[in-house]
This record gives sequence, C-alpha cells and structure tokens, in this order.
Amino acid sequence: MIIRKLYKFEASHIVRNCSSDRCKYSIHGHSFRVEVLLSADKLDDGQMVYDFGLMKGTVKDMLDGFDHASLYWEKEAPEYQKAIKSHSKRWVQLPSRPPPSSSRASSSSPSRPCSTRPSAPTAMRPPPCTP
Ligand SMILES: [Zn+2]
Repeated sequence: MIIRKLYKFEASHIVRNCSSDRCKYSIHGHSFRVEVLLSADKLDDGQMVYDFGLMKGTVKDMLDGFDHASLYWEKEAPEYQKAIKSHSKRWVQLPSRPPPSSSRASSSSPSRPCSTRPSAPTAMRPPPCTP
C-alpha cells in the first residue's frame, strides 16, 4: 500500500551551470512540487498507512521553509550569498552543487535546458530562518 501527499511551494533561484543564459545569469522563480510517497505492509491502529496529520510538524513544516525563499548553492560567490541574505528574509542554502557544465555537456538534454525540480528534500538543510 502506498499513499501520497503533494506539497507545493514557490521559490527563486539561479542555475549557474544551466545552458540557458536566462537561468544562468538571472534570479527567477518556480512553482515547485514535492510529492511524498509512504508505503506500508500493513495498516496502523487507525487503519491507515500513515496519519497525514502527523506530517504537519515535520515534512510540511520543513517544505514550508522553502516557500517564498531564495535558494542558492553553498559554493555560490560570498558576495551573492550576502546580497540574498540582506534582501530576503527567507533563504535556503543548498549543500551541494550540480556537476560543472563541462562534465554535463555530453549528456544534457536540449529539450529541457534548466531543471525545475529541486533536489530530494532529504538532501536539503532546514531553512535557516522563519517568516
Ligand atoms: Zn530555474
């Protein structure tokens, strides 16, 4: 048995290694969707795979930290990080960075030059600030 819960948030970012100059040099926003799938071999005492209400203090709150936030990679230039932090109350520093464009060149897809999907939530740090 599998149950799903869809979360949505709006956030901005810049994608330094994108093939598109628009994404590479301009801060822009997206409507992100994160779908959480939970599976179980048997139902719990409430006859549920999982009580979605229990996700409010964990998954929902963590993903809500990305809503209306500016996302940036931790290896972004210090002056860029400083500017984001000084002009946005909500920001998330992502702990890794995509491989350099030179290593992706042979496998990149021309039909979708800029990824709009965030990394898996488990790879992200909780937001450093709240509204
Ligand atoms: Zn983008």
